[in-house]
Amino acid sequence: MMTGQKQRHPGQGWDQDGRGSSQAKPVLDRLQEMLGALPGIGPKSAERIAHHLLAAPRDEVLELAETLRAVKEKLRRCARCCAPTEAEVCPTCLDTRRDLGLLCVVEQPRDQAALERMGTYRGLYHILHGRLSPLEGIGPEKLTIDRLVERARGGEVREVILATNPTLEGDGTSLYIAGLLGHMGLKITRLARGIPAGSILEFANSQMLADAMDGRNTF
Ligand SMILES: [Zn+2]
Repeated sequence: MMTGQKQRHPGQGWDQDGRGSSQAKPVLDRLQEMLGALPGIGPKSAERIAHHLLAAPRDEVLELAETLRAVKEKLRRCARCCAPTEAEVCPTCLDTRRDLGLLCVVEQPRDQAALERMGTYRGLYHILHGRLSPLEGIGPEKLTIDRLVERARGGEVREVILATNPTLEGDGTSLYIAGLLGHMGLKITRLARGIPAGSILEFANSQMLADAMDGRNTF
């Protein structure tokens, strides 16, 4: 809301005063600041993108602005898996070719996207929208764990794959969830971890090696 209002006023100033007006500079500065605050975009890229937008056709830039607005106004969480979607239930949950008995639990929508790119997993997902982090005050109530437990209780799920990130907090989150689901008689698994394919033992760090040793398979 606030951002929309802030953008509207300088925009009007731009139209009235034309290019090169004194009002243009703060807008451009602010745009660069906002772009630079995005992940993976440094000050140089922010400057380049800002000037690209300045030179781009008006329709294109307004379409981008409209899309940004739509991200916040039209997207909501899927009633089943909590993934961002424009409908009540997302296309993945409605896909009848998927195995309803498999539930893969991930931290963020981007983790689901990564698994989907792999192209071999045909089960459903559950998006936690974060991980437990006592230090940052993120407890179970801030994630979608209640909803996950409800789904697991529903009767259709036979295996829950815990695919949180292999970090201290990700592991802690999986451990917590495994504890909640433990008595339901479901198979609970987690992603194998260890040495990435194509790498050399000598260069693997000791945690990777330890994980690879723990998760060893029968030859
Ligand atoms: Zn869904």
